[in-house]
Parts: sequence; C-alpha cells; structure tokens
Amino acid sequence: MSRPVLLIAGGSRGIGAACARFAGQRGYDVAIVYKSNANAAASVVDAVKAAGGKSVAIAADMANEADIVRAFDEAAKALGPVTHFVHCAGVVGDASRLDAASTETIREVLDVNTFGGLLCLRECVRRMSTKSGGKGGAVVMLSSMAATIGGGGECVWYAAAKAGVDAMVVGAAREVAKEGVRINAVSPGVIDTDIQPPGRVERLTPLLPAGRAGQASEVAEAILFLLSDAASYINGANLRVSGAR
Ligand code: NAP
Repeated sequence: MSRPVLLIAGGSRGIGAACARFAGQRGYDVAIVYKSNANAAASVVDAVKAAGGKSVAIAADMANEADIVRAFDEAAKALGPVTHFVHCAGVVGDASRLDAASTETIREVLDVNTFGGLLCLRECVRRMSTKSGGKGGAVVMLSSMAATIGGGGECVWYAAAKAGVDAMVVGAAREVAKEGVRINAVSPGVIDTDIQPPGRVERLTPLLPAGRAGQASEVAEAILFLLSDAASYINGANLRVSGAR
C-alpha cells in the first residue's frame, strides 16, 4: 500500500514542525511549506527523513493563490498525490487595540489565515474529493481560542480571521462528507512558539487555568489524531487544545 502524503502549510517552525516530525515517525511522507526560514525547514525535512519518510521543503507564500497551487503541485510531484493536509501557516501582527492597528496588519493577517486558508481548503477538495476523481483525504485547519475569546486589547483582527476558519471548516466538511474528505479544526490556547511576542507567555502563565502554556507537541498530537483513521467519524469538528482556557 502507498504511504500517506501529508502537506503542511507552515511546517518549518512551531506546531507545523512538530506535526511533521510526528508524521515522519508514524509512516507519512511529508511536504512542508515555509515562507522564508529555509534553515528551519531543512532541519524538519532532515528529521522526517531520519525517521524513514520521504520529505521535501517548498518555499511559498500561502497568502498568494499561484504559490498555493504550486505548493500542492510540487508536493504531489515529489511525493505523490496529497492525501492529508494541515494548515499551520499563520501570523498575528503586532499586538494593539483595534483602533491602533494598521490596515496593512489587518490585511496581512486576514490574507494568510483566512483568504489563504480558504484557497488551501478549496485546493484540498478539488484534489481529494471522490466526486472530482480523488481518493479522499483528511484536513486539519488551525484556528485559535482567540476566535471564541475575541482577542480584545491584542488582536481583534486575528480573532476575526480565525472565526472565519471555524466557519469554513463546518461548511466545507458538510459539503464533502459523502466524498471521502474529512475537514476539522484545532483551536490552540496559549502555546509556547515563536508566534508569541517576547514576554507574553510569562505574563499570561499565572492567568492560565492549567498554570502553564502548552507545547507545540501537545497540539501536534491532537492534529495527528484528527488526520488518522482513528478519527474516521470526526468531521466538521473543532477540537480545543487550550488547557481549559
Ligand atoms: P509559528 O511558530 O510562528 O510558525 C508559523 C509557521 O507558518 C512557520 O512555519 C512560518 O514559516 C509559516 N508561515 C507564516 N506565514 C506564512 C506565509 N505567508 N506563507 C507560508 N508560510 C507561512 O506559529 P505556530 O505557533 O506554530 O502557529 C501555527 C498555527 O497555529 C497558526 O495558524 C497560529 O495562528 C495557530 N495558533 C497558534 C497559537 C499559539 O499560541 N502558538 C495559538 C492559537 C493558534 P517561516 O518559518 O518561513 O516563517
């Protein structure tokens, strides 16, 4: 049987990199997309290969339609048709109230998280749906607890962008539930990765219900579960990985 092929948008660092490492250990071939951090991407590729998987890194801007389509094409050319997809490419923008945020920040955050996320999801359905001649597949989109909490004082635009992710997951999952494709969301709380501004994790830690931030590996475990056949009847769901935040 051919090995599953996982494409991770935003696989060079943080949660996406943790997913790639686990996936390599668990029998996937893994293509990772990064924007600019080629060294980090190369070390993730090395880790997947060391675990026995095939792997390739692809530089692409996942807010750009041509780059998104090219990333899916290059992954399929290198490893075979993409059977699994994780959307981890995300940016937050500098923290501020909404009235102090620049239009450029709001635009970029919506472009990467929501517009790019939608185009990636469309690409997955076009390629995976049995109705379009695909063999089915599983998709996990990264949302955030911010979509529920609202991001007040820090990132209202990011919260709104992730609320869009929540909606697209529910709607798209219903569209393709009879076509072999499962689409789920994971909503992390405060996870200690590079996306956090300096000092934020330390400042928030005493306020977190668990008394600590989460680790990228703890989110990756949830994602790998949702990708797996063990989650065969889980579709259109949104799994909070937030330590009760
Ligand atoms: P991270 O450590 O900052 O990693 C972000 C990844 O996305 C990197 O691989 C980066 O590539 C890639 N990326 C960013 N913009 C891109 C673009 N335009 N095109 C292609 N790749 C791009 O972030 P993370 O914490 O792992 O976050 C992963 C996802 O979880 C995001 O959607 C984030 O919003 C969500 N999330 C995170 C938290 C948290 O507390 N960490 C909480 C809730 C939700 P380069 O390495 O090349 O820059």
